[in-house]
Amino acid sequence: MSKLDKSSLRREILQQRRSLSAEDWQHKSNLICDRLKTLTIFREAQTILAYFSFRQEPDLTPLFALDKTWAFPRCVGKSLVWHSWQPGTELQTGKYGIQELLPTAPTIAPITADLILVPTVASNDRGFRLGYGGGFYDRLLSPESNLNVPTIGIVFDFASGIAIPTDPWDRPLDFVCTEMNIYVY
Ligand code: ADP
Ligand code: MG
Repeated sequence: MSKLDKSSLRREILQQRRSLSAEDWQHKSNLICDRLKTLTIFREAQTILAYFSFRQEPDLTPLFALDKTWAFPRCVGKSLVWHSWQPGTELQTGKYGIQELLPTAPTIAPITADLILVPTVASNDRGFRLGYGGGFYDRLLSPESNLNVPTIGIVFDFASGIAIPTDPWDRPLDFVCTEMNIYVY
């Protein structure tokens, strides 16, 4: 499928997501957090790779108070570097306007994680994912990286289970969590 198809779909979904009211966004985000907390794989995970919400991505902040080791990504070249975080750890604004940890914060090897919460623009009915177009999570989850850590795509329901152009390098998610459902793939 052409790049153009992905980018026009991406634009459309992001526009819809931006049009959610702040109340609706927060409400749906809280439902996603509540739903994640019911999932055994989430409850049992000790080390979780997550993200800080930006551009009205589902806000997972309430989860970060749970007693787990949380790690967040920093874009370095074409890769993500993961840093551990505790409440109060200093953040800075990175190149894409995303909140990031300082380069000096302790790093975590993704292989040591029990779970990855993957920011997802849209997902299809087989767990394939549309991201922002950087391919960062496709590279993280590529067969060569040999990372057998379960993944949960986090997405609002309106953007889940829709037709998405897929390319050979796209990696499917194991679960998708929305405010309405948890889908298992
Ligand atoms: P996204 O997954 O962020 O929506 P795409 O699937 O369009 O974005 O991928 C973006 C770019 O990332 C593609 O041009 C692709 O070449 C590159 N890419 C994805 N996976 C890999 C990989 N495993 N190795 C190298 N490049 C990759
Ligand atoms: Mg992709």
